[in-house]
Amino acid sequence: MTHFEDLGLSQPVLQALDLKGYSTPTPIQEQAIPPVLEGRDLLGIAQTGTGKTAAFMLPSIDRLRESENRIPFKSCRMLVLAPTRELVQQIATSAKDYGALAGLKVQSIVGGTSVNKDRNKLHRGTDILIATPGRLLDLIDQKAFNLNGVEVLVLDEADQMLDLGFIHALRQINRLVPKDRQTLFFSATMPKQIKELVSGYCTNPVQVSVTPESTTAERIEQYLFMVQQDEKQALIELILSRRHGVPGDFERVLIFTRTKHGADRVVKKLGRAGIAANAIHGNKSQPQRQRALDEFRRGKTNILIATDVAARGIDIPGVSHVINYELPNVPEQYVHRIGRTARAGKDGVAIAFCAEDERAYLKDIRRKTGAELDRLPLPDNFRAVVEGEGPTKPPPRGQTRVSKKKIKPKPAGAPRPEGGSKPKKPGAKHQARKGKPAGKPGANSGGRPSGKPGGKPGGKGGGGRFHKRRGSGGRPNGGGRSNAG
Ligand code: AMP
Repeated sequence: MTHFEDLGLSQPVLQALDLKGYSTPTPIQEQAIPPVLEGRDLLGIAQTGTGKTAAFMLPSIDRLRESENRIPFKSCRMLVLAPTRELVQQIATSAKDYGALAGLKVQSIVGGTSVNKDRNKLHRGTDILIATPGRLLDLIDQKAFNLNGVEVLVLDEADQMLDLGFIHALRQINRLVPKDRQTLFFSATMPKQIKELVSGYCTNPVQVSVTPESTTAERIEQYLFMVQQDEKQALIELILSRRHGVPGDFERVLIFTRTKHGADRVVKKLGRAGIAANAIHGNKSQPQRQRALDEFRRGKTNILIATDVAARGIDIPGVSHVINYELPNVPEQYVHRIGRTARAGKDGVAIAFCAEDERAYLKDIRRKTGAELDRLPLPDNFRAVVEGEGPTKPPPRGQTRVSKKKIKPKPAGAPRPEGGSKPKKPGAKHQARKGKPAGKPGANSGGRPSGKPGGKPGGKGGGGRFHKRRGSGGRPNGGGRSNAG
């Protein structure tokens, strides 16, 4: 087994790794660190979650220490470009951790924050700068920053930067960096445009690849629901409230929509159903996005709805399920999405909702990834639930919902957990549906079937983790509403 000591890293870096508790390098670290330490250019084909940040950061820190160049005025010695604010912040945190004992100055800049502050903080230059391309070019245009001092240039998640329309920015940056710098180029996929970009940026790069292009991780179980667009909300509510079984125990559930508006809509409707969730997307302010991510990381709100752009590059351990509420129209995006689960050696579950008009996307995903998506059955009586007073609709103001249609707690054909024999009586949930106000604080949990309708053997019933807790002091209809979820 290879250890970090075998890769030629310096003592301060090894100590920082020790403090982080990392003992063995991941495959990409093992392959990338030695050639980067030698000063070679690198092309890394890897997704987040593979340890690629340390793969480029650790050897670069050592090279910066060795070159002993001074911090250049209004410039930096190492520039890391990344597509999103979240990823920039994540890399900056890692850089600070890994470089803590090397005495290097680390700064980061992202759009959506004060440009003046960025101008001031970069005036005296920095050793390492992590930036989104747009904000970097803003500062360069204002003559507040230049790239003359760059010794090491990193492009992280290059394919995502292209998807976000940064191609011109990247070409421009390539013209501004010194010719004799080292370039480390990372991308999860290698479409033609990326190959062209690589040949412009890199000189004879060493290529390391940790996941073959567009193949989905083997540890992810992939499932599919064929469901109409107008049924999706009802289905997600039933799944999240564990009234329709899907495999796996819920720990953290990341749900993808195609649009910002769609993400907000799902959050709002889940809220009405008593299921707490947050959204991250481009229309949210940076503090809002950060708060949602923090709550998700800490497990305070275990459901996060995201658009592809916002979720790029974020690394959150413990995502047990990725739900594709809407299928992405680019198959590579599917790979990125489901790659948010099955991190750090864990297993993961990916679920796709496919409506009639998304069949072509599904076909592309299957063709491109070779993935088999096992089809799961819809709940019993599902269409009736959607059309009747299903879980999507809140009760009219001032009224407790009275449902004429029963929602079966355990759908036929759905997998049943070990020991989860029969679901118990629907209890409070259904009582409220029949018009009995369920005002007691405990009504919510009492209403769920105690046996989890789906899941792996030995799984815990976990539906309650996603329900907002409402006390008796809540809305008069609180019980009735939460029961709808
Ligand atoms: P990345 O792909 O760089 O986003 O890293 C994914 C996760 O793996 C991050 O949470 C890192 O802190 C963690 N990580 C990176 N390298 C190692 C390692 N050698 N051992 C254990 N965890 C690591």
